[in-house]
Amino acid sequence: MIALDLHVHTCLSPCGALDMHPGAIVREAVACGLDGVAICDHNAADNVAATGRAARAAGCLAVPGIEITTEEEVHVVALLPDEAAAGALHARVASALPGRNAPGPFGEQVIANERAEVLGFNPSLLAGATSWSLERAVGEIHRAGGLAIAAHADRERFGIVGQLGFVPPGLALDAVEVSAATGFGEGRARYADPLGLAAVTGSDAHRPGEIGRAVTFLHLDRPDAAEVGRAIKGVGGRSVLGGGRPMEDLAMHILDIAQNAVEAGATRVEVRVEEDEAADLLRIVVADNGRGMDQAAASRALDPFFTTRGTRAVGLGLPLLRHAAEAAGGSLRVASAPGAGTRVEAEFAWAHLDRAPMGDLETTVLVLLASHPDVDLDWTHRRGGGEYSVSTGDLRAALGGASLASPAGIALARAAVRQGEAGLRGPAGGARRREDDR
Ligand SMILES: [Zn+2]
Ligand SMILES: [Zn+2]
Repeated sequence: MIALDLHVHTCLSPCGALDMHPGAIVREAVACGLDGVAICDHNAADNVAATGRAARAAGCLAVPGIEITTEEEVHVVALLPDEAAAGALHARVASALPGRNAPGPFGEQVIANERAEVLGFNPSLLAGATSWSLERAVGEIHRAGGLAIAAHADRERFGIVGQLGFVPPGLALDAVEVSAATGFGEGRARYADPLGLAAVTGSDAHRPGEIGRAVTFLHLDRPDAAEVGRAIKGVGGRSVLGGGRPMEDLAMHILDIAQNAVEAGATRVEVRVEEDEAADLLRIVVADNGRGMDQAAASRALDPFFTTRGTRAVGLGLPLLRHAAEAAGGSLRVASAPGAGTRVEAEFAWAHLDRAPMGDLETTVLVLLASHPDVDLDWTHRRGGGEYSVSTGDLRAALGGASLASPAGIALARAAVRQGEAGLRGPAGGARRREDDR
């Protein structure tokens, strides 16, 4: 499993900050615990190779990409299997860009190397549209061996639905991107599922602090750009497990706490999410049979100053979850003892204005199972009078020996969570306000 921010601009983009040079992007990605980023500058790929070198030196991945603006002013992210393909597509895009940049109004378009040295400036009007139609752009991307992804499909400006009102039938898109403005599950259901395509997400970062704001989790054999393409296409047992906003979504907090549990030696993790709107209560419980902590270690675990930023793309552990709970009129309790596991219980006022969005629980389950197929997970989500459970015991029995991390295992777990979540939404759920309306 790898976690990638699949949409990051560099200082080459006229709207990108000057400190978004290749080395800084890679440093920030590593600090966020990401396995890598996709470099998607507007209509150009001049900084792809330098970011690739910086990433390789840091042991992470920079997927070559270009965010192409079509003549309809739709943004399409092209992800390429290697730097040569990105270079070839870059040359094609350059020939379709009519204008010259004026740095005054639009900003500098800095070509930089991995040592933050300025090598030059891209002279084209990268902020403008190419002369390619949407269909032509998708065709050009495919000819270069890349994947065509409808960028920030949930956004009005430059999103495919926002610009055109619909997705043209027969357009050979490979995936749909949900921006960090929308919950991943909601965006996937609205924009990707109807097309039968995978949903991905990325931060669309133009400044270093925005990197990692949205993350896509991919199940693949090794971290390289070609494998990322196979996962997005869903071929050869590779797949997109999901996505989320690590600092924001409660689903990402749950994933973080559960992964901490497994790293603390747990072989069994129980997760309960209980939503009681009538009582204005949301309770999240993560209990494990891991090593546990003595009192001193437990209070250190709750202290943000003692928590080094993790090696994963998800959260800062307990301090961040405590902050989220207290900001929403709730609290966090930790019960732990050496050898007796740990139980984390967070409560929130369900309707509190500052209550974090739930995010995509399907992603939480799938990333946990694909990362730790041998851990026993008991998962329950209750909402109002409804409830569903997913247990690895049941899933393994149904799989008859296949791993939970196999394509069949992931498909089965995905179906179980989807069915359960759909049941909770139900007809009565339709009138409830959507998580991300806030
Ligand atoms: Zn865009
Ligand atoms: Zn962008």
